Amino acid sequence: MATQIRVDSSNVKYTERYIEAQYSYHTSAVSRDNGTYKVTPRSTHYTFRTERKLPKLGVMLVGWGGNNGTTVTAAVLANRLGLSWRTKTGWKKANYFGSLLQASTVCLGTGPEGDVFVPFHDLLPMVHPNDIVFDGWDISSLDLARAMERAQVLDWSLQEQLRPHMAKLKPRPSIYIPEFIAANQGERADNVLGGSMEEQMEQIRKDIRDFRQQSRVDKVIVLWTANTERFCDIVPGVNDTAQNLLKTIQFAHEAAVMSLSLAAGSHDSSPSDVGSPQLLLGAVLMAPRWWQTCRTGFSRARSVLQELGEWLQTTVHIGFVHLPSNSGVHVLWPGFFGGGEFTSEGVEKREISGSKGGRSDKSLDVPPQVVIKYVPYVGDSKRAMDEYTSEIMLGGTNTIVIHNTCEDSLLASPIILDLVILTELCQRITFRTEDSPDFQTFHSVLSVLSYLCKAPLVPQGAPVVNALFRQRACIENIMRACLGLPPQNHMQLEHKTR
Ligand code: NAD
Repeated sequence: MATQIRVDSSNVKYTERYIEAQYSYHTSAVSRDNGTYKVTPRSTHYTFRTERKLPKLGVMLVGWGGNNGTTVTAAVLANRLGLSWRTKTGWKKANYFGSLLQASTVCLGTGPEGDVFVPFHDLLPMVHPNDIVFDGWDISSLDLARAMERAQVLDWSLQEQLRPHMAKLKPRPSIYIPEFIAANQGERADNVLGGSMEEQMEQIRKDIRDFRQQSRVDKVIVLWTANTERFCDIVPGVNDTAQNLLKTIQFAHEAAVMSLSLAAGSHDSSPSDVGSPQLLLGAVLMAPRWWQTCRTGFSRARSVLQELGEWLQTTVHIGFVHLPSNSGVHVLWPGFFGGGEFTSEGVEKREISGSKGGRSDKSLDVPPQVVIKYVPYVGDSKRAMDEYTSEIMLGGTNTIVIHNTCEDSLLASPIILDLVILTELCQRITFRTEDSPDFQTFHSVLSVLSYLCKAPLVPQGAPVVNALFRQRACIENIMRACLGLPPQNHMQLEHKTR
């Protein structure tokens, strides 16, 4: 049962519709004058409103029949049905381990017996994953039971219990433009839309409307979890703004991008480029490049290592990734990352850029050299090996080597749930300041989600923060602000006196 939290403060008001909090946001403005930094403390007054009523949430996945799509759907069903199953190591029970919101806690404050922690999802009213209704598209027509079997992610006895439920779910036909995807995907492309680009876009819009009506959901979030598409340049006047994009689709320009303007929110769990012409979603042109990849097991470990670079001068970073699934074959396609080997211009560089936190050194500017191999034997258990060598004092070196084996879709699925639940929550939060007295929503590029993504996406001109712990603190402290609570500062001054 959810923990009840009620803030006892004149700054926080609970109405039937909102939690309304008065909040002082403290920052430090820095200027430089004749070699001296002048720091001026600033305070801005915010009013935060969080709508308390939870919508019935629908999630539509592009690539629903893939490893991620089937696994996240199965996970929600298994939890909703309270399933348990036997494996060779004993009984397992459905859970949401790996989800920031469902499986981690935040410190609320201090009680008579010390710090009091509550589940993250109890801080503010949030949709529970068990209540999410799924739908989606896939270029492969397999129903979700057969697609789950193809994915080879879940234990067989769990699959047997889920089969009757998953068999009822069938992906909708999708947009398939072979030039933007590896040729091997053609073998499964038996569920594709025909017609002009404009007609296909209209069909996708209709699908979203149909889903909304049939399942009686109040809100739909669309998430991309189909295969990564090849890069495509942003061409001014063609695909650089929502209007240009829609115009381009009408004229079927080869660099057109599908935009589904009905989607309430959208995400990409795969490292596609916004400029690619296949399915993209309502908020797609919120930023010139739509590049958000789930930060699963090893990416997360890498982020921790990068933060270690705060003290060390990383000079070499070499990585090997053995990708197993259908998406592994895809990544090796020459149209994508030049066929599996990449250095500074590849994803990893993007992953790192802007991640120096407060450092002035160049330790994270080292281009990593990463080699990706397709090794079908490893199944969904992706292998990644990374070596970081740093220069330390007086010419010494420090090398850290990590070998990671992870059942990738089981790591990605809880993050997909976090992404949609946080997006939904952000849509229910509005705020105003003294300078802009009308209540406004967060910018449609939700940089608050960066913690869950490999490369943070921020509104144009906003600073990029790619340091894991700062990103987590951002989510936690914004939620605390919505409750009129000060940021978690970890100072514990009360325990530092004699
Ligand atoms: P997958 O190959 O198993 O699934 C992708 C699905 O997308 C397939 O079923 C394919 O038929 C479908 N598809 C391809 N083009 C489509 C289109 N135009 N419209 C609709 N459907 C389409 O891959 P996956 O393991 O589920 O991963 C999906 C994406 O997420 C990949 O880009 C991958 O790199 C990324 N990712 C995966 C994980 C993971 O753990 N599996 C982790 C992080 C990121």
